[in-house]
Amino acid sequence: MEFLRRQLDDEEAAACGRCDNCAGARFDDQVSTAALDTARGELGRPGAEVEPRKMWPTGLAAVGVDLKGRIPTGELSFSGRALGRLSDIGWGNRLRPMLAAQTQDAPVPDDVANAVVTVLVDWAKGPGGWASGNADAAPRPVGVVTVASHSRPQLIQSLGSRIAEVGRMPLLGSVTYAPGAAEVRISRTNSAQRVRALHEALVVEPELAEALASVGGPVLLVDDLSDTGWTLAVASRLLRRAGAEGVFPLVLAVQA
Ligand SMILES: [Zn+2]
Repeated sequence: MEFLRRQLDDEEAAACGRCDNCAGARFDDQVSTAALDTARGELGRPGAEVEPRKMWPTGLAAVGVDLKGRIPTGELSFSGRALGRLSDIGWGNRLRPMLAAQTQDAPVPDDVANAVVTVLVDWAKGPGGWASGNADAAPRPVGVVTVASHSRPQLIQSLGSRIAEVGRMPLLGSVTYAPGAAEVRISRTNSAQRVRALHEALVVEPELAEALASVGGPVLLVDDLSDTGWTLAVASRLLRRAGAEGVFPLVLAVQA
């Protein structure tokens, strides 16, 4: 304030005597080892909730898609999990370079796969999880489905295989892109345009539909990155309509 007042030629500009500059900071800059360890533990702990989209975006009718309002219960996914938020320190720092546009596709690294397994176990045993033993526990997933990717097929397929192997569940197949459809990448187009593109591009082929019917239970839906949540919403809808009794989205990272 003194500085500002001087700039404004205030002749009475003077130290206030009350602020940290005048009175000295009231807090020291030392942090206890215990507090540091707790913070490190929190930041390094894998897992973030992925809330499913519950409403279709407005304006779908205008772009020729007959979906609107609340997503029907029979087409919804359960809430999902991500290993981390892309914006966070901790796992975000590990995931950002892995999921950067210029990074070459490769199978999922061991430390990341192991951390995803930890997330899965915490999820299963957590409140309402399928291994929680609670009366309101979710049904146990009985298979793994991946989201096809043109850009990171090895990453997603290897992650799907690993989860199937660890969870002793079959890898049922992929929600794929219709022949000729371009992958719907992260873009700045509006939600309605994005849902329209996904709605036209994503398909559950008959082999996957048969596999879904044969396992008779919910499935884990594996993808690399969820930015707007529309890919998971459209893929979950397709899986539910094809006979999946439930969908648990599981991604490496969420954008938000
Ligand atoms: Zn002051």
